[in-house]
Amino acid sequence: MASSTADMRLSGGHPALDFVNTVDSRRGRLGPDFLVSFADLATLAQRVGLISPADAGRLLHDAASHPGGTASFIRRARKLREAAYRLFIAETAAQDFDNRDVATVEAEAQKARLRQRLVFTDGLWAWSLPLNEPEDVLAVFAIAAADLLTGRELRRPVRECKGHNCGWLFLDHSKAGRRKWCSEASCGTRSRVERFRSKET
Ligand SMILES: [Zn+2]
Repeated sequence: MASSTADMRLSGGHPALDFVNTVDSRRGRLGPDFLVSFADLATLAQRVGLISPADAGRLLHDAASHPGGTASFIRRARKLREAAYRLFIAETAAQDFDNRDVATVEAEAQKARLRQRLVFTDGLWAWSLPLNEPEDVLAVFAIAAADLLTGRELRRPVRECKGHNCGWLFLDHSKAGRRKWCSEASCGTRSRVERFRSKET
């Protein structure tokens, strides 16, 4: 079983959903929460390709030499994560959303976008976000969450895994659009085994 962002499964299909999935279970039981330190977030950002290994190494080094402010940073990161989670869930379930959650994601994304620079590298123009401070790593997730909320293709809905002790969110890339599990190998298999056992008894 995974114990941190370093070994958790990346089954969201989008960096914003892997960020939201740093709570290991949202159905049946809540937690454990993998987002407890700056390193957890930087590690995830690197694993999902939002920052380079070189940037991750530099930010981790800086964070280790200036450990102050971690608790308030983690509170802020979790606030963004939970707001994004509730917005995706509300959309998936066609339920009302809370304007406070919109304001949270909007404020973090606005702050992040203000710092983006237009750069030309390898023959392509792209938005780049300079990572000066360890806390800047949250900005890449704020932009990812806002991008997914606004830019998602309609035929690829966000789904909630119905697996026991799961509840992770994922983008349904399947052709039929009826994917039920965050991972066939874990939640899908476990569910089939449970169904088989309940038939036996
Ligand atoms: Zn699952």
